[in-house]
Amino acid sequence: MHSTTASPTPTHCPYCALQCGMGLAQDPGRDGGLAVVEREFPVNRGALCGKGRTATEVLSSRVRLTEPLIRTHATGRLEPATWEAALDRIAEGLSRTRAEHGPDAVGVFGGGGLTNEKAYGLGKFARVVLGTSQIDYNGRFCMSSAAAAHQRAFGLDRGLPFPLEDIPRTGCVILVGSNLAETMPPALRYLTELRENGGTLIVVDPRRTRTAAQADLHLAPRPGTDLALALGLLHLVVAQGRTDEAYIRERTSGWEEARAGAMAHWPELVERITGVSVPELREAVRLFCAPDDAMVLTARGPEQQAKGTDTVGAWINLVLATGRAGRPHSGYGCLTGQGNGQGGREHGQKADQLPGYRKLSDPAARAHVAEVWGVAPESLPGPGRSAYELLDALGGDVKSLLLMGSNPVVSAPRAAHIERRLRSLDFLAVADVVLSETAELADVVLPVTQWAEETGTTTNLEGRVLLRRQAITPPAGVRTDLFVLHELAARLGVEKGFPTDPEEVFEELRRASAGGPADYSGITYRRLAEEEGVFWPCPAEPGHGDGEDAALDAAPDDPSAELPGAEAESASASASASTGVHPGTPRLFLDRFATEDGRARFVPVTHRAAAEEPDAEFPVLLTTGRVVAQYQSGAQTRRVAELNAAAPGPFVELHPQLAARIGVADGEDVTVVSRRGTAVAPAKVTRSIRPDTVFMPFHWAGEGRANTLTHPALDPVSRMPEFKVCAVRLERTGPPGLAKSA
Ligand code: SF4
Repeated sequence: MHSTTASPTPTHCPYCALQCGMGLAQDPGRDGGLAVVEREFPVNRGALCGKGRTATEVLSSRVRLTEPLIRTHATGRLEPATWEAALDRIAEGLSRTRAEHGPDAVGVFGGGGLTNEKAYGLGKFARVVLGTSQIDYNGRFCMSSAAAAHQRAFGLDRGLPFPLEDIPRTGCVILVGSNLAETMPPALRYLTELRENGGTLIVVDPRRTRTAAQADLHLAPRPGTDLALALGLLHLVVAQGRTDEAYIRERTSGWEEARAGAMAHWPELVERITGVSVPELREAVRLFCAPDDAMVLTARGPEQQAKGTDTVGAWINLVLATGRAGRPHSGYGCLTGQGNGQGGREHGQKADQLPGYRKLSDPAARAHVAEVWGVAPESLPGPGRSAYELLDALGGDVKSLLLMGSNPVVSAPRAAHIERRLRSLDFLAVADVVLSETAELADVVLPVTQWAEETGTTTNLEGRVLLRRQAITPPAGVRTDLFVLHELAARLGVEKGFPTDPEEVFEELRRASAGGPADYSGITYRRLAEEEGVFWPCPAEPGHGDGEDAALDAAPDDPSAELPGAEAESASASASASTGVHPGTPRLFLDRFATEDGRARFVPVTHRAAAEEPDAEFPVLLTTGRVVAQYQSGAQTRRVAELNAAAPGPFVELHPQLAARIGVADGEDVTVVSRRGTAVAPAKVTRSIRPDTVFMPFHWAGEGRANTLTHPALDPVSRMPEFKVCAVRLERTGPPGLAKSA
C-alpha cells in the first residue's frame, strides 16, 4: 500500500459487501491516477484484501471502456461512436420493441454492485419510462434465499441485524457455507477475536477451507444436505432438553410444527444423509449450547440451493429454539456478498419490489411511491420475473434488454444457454465499466463511471448506509449511469424525474423509502459525510430534521415505520438524541420482531434431495464458489495484473481418491461434464475436499467456465438458482484411448 502525504479522499472499496473503508490519494504517476491508502473505519479497521488494495488499477484507461461502441451493419463489430449516436440507437431499439410487442417485451437487468441511487433510478426507469414489469438483477443469485427466510421468520430482511463488532462478544458462532478467509479476509479478524475471547467457532463446509481450518469444529456435509444437518442439530437440542422454553413461549410462534419436523430427523438418519457423524453432531450441539450467547451466520453455501429458503429457515429455527435471536450478542445473520447486495435489494431493481423494501403488490406501497414519482398508481406494472427466468425468456417474449453492471455470460447458471438467449435478442444495450463477456454481445455498449469517479451510497452487509465519494475525474468519454437514465428517459418522452446529481436522487429515494421497512428518510449525504455510516431503518422525525430540512414531506404510511424492537443506538446516538435526529438502528429485534404480533416465526421445514443427485452417468457432486484474488464474474479483477498472477485461471479441486480413479495428476487438465455442458480446467488435487465432490471457482469465461455446468433449478420462494450442487462426470482430458471417467 502506498504511503502519501496528500490529503486522501475517504471512501469505500468497490467490491464486496464488507465495503471496507479506504483512502484515495492523488498519484498522477500511477496508472489510474490514484493510490489506495489506509483509513481507519470500524468495519475493516484499516485492513484491506488484495482486491481492495489494487482496486485503482481498474481506473486505468488501458483496461476500462472510454468511448461508446455501436455494432455496425457493415462489419458486424462494435465500433467507436458518439454518445448522441449511442443513446439514440438505444432509445430507438427499446422504442421499436415496445411499439411492436408491448412494454413487457423490454427487459431490464441490474446489478448488486450498483449504488443505491442507480438501483433506485433503474427501477423507476423500468416502471415509469418503459412501463415494463420485466426487471430483476444479479443480486437474486447472491443472497435472496436468506432474504426470503429473514422475511418469513422475522418480518424484515436486513442481512445482519447486528453490527459485525458483536461477533467477538458472543460465545459460539456456527458459520455455514462461508469461506470468509477468501471472500472477505478483513472480516476474519472478528472470528479470530471471538476465539481469543474464549468463544468457539464451528464451520460447516464440504471443503476444509482456510476458514474451516481455523474452526474448533469443522463439519463437512455432502453438498445440498445442510438443511438435514440443521434439523439434526435441532433434534439433539430438543432431545437433550436444551431448548429455551420461556423464550419460545414469549417471543416466537409455530414451534410445535417446527419441532415435529426436527424430531423426524434423528441423528443416525442425518449422519446417513450428510456424512457428518453422530459424535460430530453431538459435539456441535455441546459447543453451541454451552454459552449463553451464540450466533449462526450463513452465506452462499446454504442459500444457493433449490431449497435455500428452507435451509436458511432450518438454521433460524435452531437459533430461535435456543433463544438466541433478538438478544444482544446473539442471533442469526446472512453475510451478503455483493458490494451493494443489501441496498440493491431494497430500492426497486428487484422484480417484486418498490423503494424502501416495499412490495410492488401492496396497494398502499404503490400509492406512496407513485405519489413520489408523480404518476398514477395504476400505471405501475406488477411484479415481473426473477433473474434466471428473465434471462431464460430473452429472445422469447422479451425481445430487447437494457443491462447495467452485470455479466450473466459468466455469472448465470446454465451459462451457455443464457449466452445463447442473449445472442437471440433483437436488441441488447449494456452499460459497464469494462468490455465484459456480456458487453461483447451487445448492439450498443456505454462506458460508465465507476466507484472513485462518482459519488453515491451503498449499504453494507450490516445495513450500514455509506457514502462513496468521487476522488478523480473520469475519462472524457465516460458518463454516469444516472446520465444514461436521464438521457434515455428524455428520448423516450419523460423529460423530468431523472436527475443526474446523485444527491438529488438520494433525496428522492429518502422520500420514496419513508415509512417503508428500509426507511432511509433520516439519512442525508451530510450525515454520511460526518458519520461512519448510518444503519437503517432511520426515519426522519417530523419537526426534527438534521439541520438541512426539518422533515420530509411524506409522512410514514406504513405501520412498520415504527419498527418493533428496533434499538436506536450508534456512536452518535446521544448527540443525535439531543438534536432530535434519529441515530439509526444498529441492532434490530431486541424487544420485538417485525411481524404483526412481534413474535419470530418458526417455519416447519423438511430435508429433500437436490434438484439433481448423482447417478451412474453423473456420479460426482459439483459445488462452486470464489477465490480470494478474484471477484464474482471477474470482469474487473481479471484485468488487474497482481490479481491475475495470484489467480490466473479456473481449476477443478478434487480429492486424491477421485483423481486416482480417473488417472489425473495435479495440474493436468480434467474435463467436467454435466447435463448442461462441458468445462475443462487443470486439476488441483487436495485432501481438503470430500472424495465425492469437486469444486470449481466461477470467475472465468471460456472453456473453464464453471457455470456452463451449474443447474438452474430455482428455490420456490426466493427464485434463487442452485449454484451449489449438481451432478457431473469427470474425465481425464487427453488423447482418445487414455480417457477414464468417474
Ligand atoms: Fe474490498 Fe471486500 Fe476486500 Fe474489503 S474484503 S477490500 S470490501 S473486496
